[in-house]
Amino acid sequence: MTLFGWGVLKGMGVTFKNFLTSYFRKPDEGGIFTVQYPEEREGTAENYRNFPFLVYDGAPEKIRCVACGICERECPPKCIHIEMELDAAGKPARKPAVFDIDYGLCMNCGMCEEVCPFDSIFMDHAFEVAAPERQIGLVRHKKELLKSNEYFREIRPALASAIDQKRKAVEEKKKAAAQPASSQSSGGTGSL
Ligand code: SF4
Ligand code: SF4
Repeated sequence: MTLFGWGVLKGMGVTFKNFLTSYFRKPDEGGIFTVQYPEEREGTAENYRNFPFLVYDGAPEKIRCVACGICERECPPKCIHIEMELDAAGKPARKPAVFDIDYGLCMNCGMCEEVCPFDSIFMDHAFEVAAPERQIGLVRHKKELLKSNEYFREIRPALASAIDQKRKAVEEKKKAAAQPASSQSSGGTGSL
């Protein structure tokens, strides 16, 4: 026969135990998982994603984005707006003059990162992006979206390193292909 109210007593026992252990046990030792934000912060997983940012190599002028517009087309809520920069002759300069993302519309899906063929746009870990203005406060322009490759390496080391290696291999292949045929053949003879 089950004692009437036994379930309630058992539940209260668990609550009381958790209340006591919360004072001396750490979360990974079975204590209560409480973080005193913002003074305390939990680390984020490498693949945690919030809003996108644009990567540059060395200096902001060396932005990787070539303004191809693929991410703009594929973004489900259409919150990316890109305008191509034109050179003195009026030809496309293969970089964006305008690159805006409305963080207020972004649904954090990561599709832009997935589809970019130039390793230019990645999901950031930064989440404190609140703004007082409802309509325009969350629109981020190119200047605010640009972040260095060093920052990318800090927040997503495994992915950034894989991409660095891939880009280096492509560069080396291009350099080898650009070498005149004569220097390639002389190099070949020298090695015999
Ligand atoms: S994360 Fe998704 S919604 Fe946000 S900008 Fe990229 S594609 Fe658009
Ligand atoms: S971020 Fe990538 S996909 Fe988007 S416009 Fe630039 S190069 Fe193209």
